[in-house]
Formats: sequence, C-alpha cells, structure tokens
Amino acid sequence: MIKKGSTFGVLIMMFLLVILGFLLYFLYLNLPGKEAVGFEQVVGNVETIIVGGVSEQFYENMRYRDKKISYVISENCGEKKRVSMEEAFSKLEDLTVLEFFPSDNPELSILCEDLAPEAGHEDYFVAGEGGPSEVINGTLYSVILSGEIALFREERCSESKIAVHELLHALGFNHNGNPNSILYPTLDCNQKIDDEIINDINRLYSFASLPDLKIHTVNATKAGRYLNFYIEVLNQGLWDAYDADLTIKVDGKEVQDFHLETIKIGARKILSVENLKISGSAERITFVIDNKNMIDEIFENNNDADLILRTL
Ligand SMILES: [Zn+2]
Repeated sequence: MIKKGSTFGVLIMMFLLVILGFLLYFLYLNLPGKEAVGFEQVVGNVETIIVGGVSEQFYENMRYRDKKISYVISENCGEKKRVSMEEAFSKLEDLTVLEFFPSDNPELSILCEDLAPEAGHEDYFVAGEGGPSEVINGTLYSVILSGEIALFREERCSESKIAVHELLHALGFNHNGNPNSILYPTLDCNQKIDDEIINDINRLYSFASLPDLKIHTVNATKAGRYLNFYIEVLNQGLWDAYDADLTIKVDGKEVQDFHLETIKIGARKILSVENLKISGSAERITFVIDNKNMIDEIFENNNDADLILRTL
C-alpha cells in the first residue's frame, strides 16, 4: 500500500513538474522582459527630387493641384475686364499645358477691387495685385489651394498685359528684373511672357495631380517575441490620399495591416505600436505603404522601408 502510494505521488509530482516547465517556457517566450534589440534600415526612403525652375517664384515649386484650374470672375468686374481676363487665360492655354474653367467653387477668384494681403501672406501677395492666398508646403511642391487676382487698373495696351501679369502672380511667379518681361514691376505694352516662365509652368505641371505617400521616419525594436515600432507616413504629393494602409512583413511574410485612412496634402500620419507579437527569431521587418497598389501616386518607389536586426 505504502509503496504503491509513493509511486503514485512521484508520478503526480513529475506530471506537475512537466506542466510547470511548460508554463515557465511559455512565460519565457511571451514576457516582454527581455532586453530590446534595435533594427536598422537597409532599404527604403528613396529620395525623389523635383528639379527647381529658372524663374523666381514666391516659394519653391509653386503650383496648383491640377493643370485644370477653376476660376470665377466677379460680377463687378464689368465687360472690359472680364474679356481681358479671358484673353489672358486663352493666352496661357495656348502657350502652356494649363487649362482654365469657370466654376462656382473656384480655386482662382478674379475681383475688381483693391485687395489687401492677409496677415502672414505678405511675402507672396504682391501689393494690391493678388497672388496665391492659400498654400500648403507639400515637400515636393508648394501647393496652391487658392489664389486671388485684383483687376483694379484698366488695360492700356491692345493685348491684355495687366491680366496676364497678375495671372502669373496668382500662379506663384514673382516680379523679375528684365524690362522686356511681362513680370517686370512696371508695365509696358511691348513686354512678353518669358520663355523661362512657359518652360517652368510646363515642367511644374508635368506631374499628374496625384498623392505621393512616403515613409518619412521609421524605427523598430524587438524584445523577445514583441515588436515595437514608430513610423511617420507623409503625403508629399498634390492630392489627398484616401484609404491608405500600411502592411508589416516579418521575414517577408505579411503579419498585419494598419489602416491609415485619409492623409491630406502635406500631412503626416504617425503610427506607434507596442508589443506586436512576432516570431522570436525575426530578423527582418518590412514596412510597405499601399501594399496592394490601390493608390496611384507620383512616385511608387518610396513606399517601402526594410529594417534588419542590428547585430552587436
Ligand atoms: Zn506685379
């Protein structure tokens, strides 16, 4: 009886020890108490550069979102000024890729009274003439969301020189020092639109009106089976990005998708994640924006960042 009971007790004890062993191993695998190891970036953030123009703009690479620009001409402009403004639009349409169309919800407002620059816009709002009125720094471009033109002087030349001069201001171009240029501060009926300005407009608008998502900053650490990461996704493009998502791959295998939703022009979305469970032996973490390629972008080569485990 005693011997039998003791064998039974030993079996129970061994069974409990095995269970305890499993529990400790499970805890060892899953507790984040281990020292964190960093990852370093090996691939990604391909820098994309838009070559700067020759003519002087208020800010670098200023353009509207699209080459088709909506406008409204105020009722109080009168027939003569309205016709001269429409001639200016036609002239730029003939010389460049730009198109102008009337709209009730316009980007460009043509007014016929004196305009005062809004606070903070004095630097690109040429006194009383107009210019961009709402600009976002989108990194690749200074994106003009809206502009204003004040036609408060009557045309004195046979061609609409004043309207063209002020339209160029509204497109982001500043005065220049060439007396033969339409953008010389003092108007003369023989002045012409500079070839450089035509080339610069065509160059600026050669990229389609699309978003451009880019991994701006990323870093990651791993403690045991737990991944912590911090990532900033920037929209440096010309249009808001809708339904953006970010895929995390571990050693090439997709582990999770994160919805970033809408990222507006010039905006950054920050995602900070702690204790995402991954394989303890993981050595390579890849972050991919728009993995299924649902969003058309200006550049598609700046959507990935590849990080490898830092070896000490
Ligand atoms: Zn001017």
